[in-house]
Amino acid sequence: MIQVAINGYGTIGKRVADAVALQPDMEVLGVAKTRPNFEAETAIEKGFPLYAAIEERADQFEEAGLEIAGLVDELVAEADVVVDATPSGIGAENRSLYEDHDTPALYQGGEDADVADVSFNARSNYAEATGADHVRVVSCNTTGLSRVIAPLREEYGVEKVRATLVRRGGDPGQTGRGPINDILPNPVTIPSHHGPDVETIFDDLDIDTLGMKVPATLMHMHSLNVTLEAEVDAADVRDLLSDESRLFLIPERLAIDGSGKLKEFAMDAGRPRADIWENCIWEESISTVDRDLYLFQGIHQESDVVPENVDAIRAVLGEADAAESIETTNETMGVGL
Ligand code: NAD
Repeated sequence: MIQVAINGYGTIGKRVADAVALQPDMEVLGVAKTRPNFEAETAIEKGFPLYAAIEERADQFEEAGLEIAGLVDELVAEADVVVDATPSGIGAENRSLYEDHDTPALYQGGEDADVADVSFNARSNYAEATGADHVRVVSCNTTGLSRVIAPLREEYGVEKVRATLVRRGGDPGQTGRGPINDILPNPVTIPSHHGPDVETIFDDLDIDTLGMKVPATLMHMHSLNVTLEAEVDAADVRDLLSDESRLFLIPERLAIDGSGKLKEFAMDAGRPRADIWENCIWEESISTVDRDLYLFQGIHQESDVVPENVDAIRAVLGEADAAESIETTNETMGVGL
């Protein structure tokens, strides 16, 4: 069994812990947190050994009546791999901790690409992570873009990608984020940093991205234009994309008009935390004009990277090839709407 440590038990970390616990070849060795809160209490209720991430604050857990199993240092020393899901920038600070214990580490998309040897998306470049000690699972937006671009590149060739990312202001629990009544060009400079991030997955890709932020918490929305190397019927693109296990083509008959109904659909389907691990592409939006392909897709920022982290664990340790890992992860988590 692969012993997995999770350092940083917030939005991403708690989801990765649950997904790891479902895997037949993995075990959650423990999760590390900086302070007691509702997530720390839930971790203990779920049976995940809880470790203190900051030695000086370890007493706070006991004062809150929460038993800790030790300090993060001990957790990292015993683990086969650590998933760092700390806030942006902290992962880079933690790198030396993982190096000291020779424990391979996964970082999240909030880190700069140079924190790791490889940036990772299971569908696009799984094999590149094999044997790497430091791997960055790219952000929710980069994951969403890579999953669509990979099959298009393989099937038709891609000349240029242009994407406008309408981004949620914050996650539902991020009460301090905004805007609450505005529409921001964000970042206001063009192109946004998202395009170069996608190029960490496909180094020869020509992509420009623009970002905006809106008063929403549920999902991001991408408006995508891909200039293909061949003229293709929209129906053929729909067939191609519908064969991809982590792309959900929203059929017209479901009458899902936006992220609100998508989340409602996920709740009705009994998805944990109403998570939507798949890109949600409006089938009717898939259109072609000459060599230009257009579509809209919703990206659930809190969860699309979760199956990717599970696959990255196997990739780093050389435990399975891409197809085997993706299939196991999808089956155990129930990915595929
Ligand atoms: P979060 O704030 O919800 O969770 C981070 C957790 O790490 C918190 O519990 C925090 O207390 C803890 N923490 C802080 N400092 C720590 C330390 N030194 N050691 C251990 N734990 C520490 O953040 P998140 O949204 O889960 O984001 C984590 C990473 O995932 C970031 O790089 C982010 O960019 C990336 N990411 C986030 C989203 C998203 O939408 N939330 C999507 C994709 C990727």
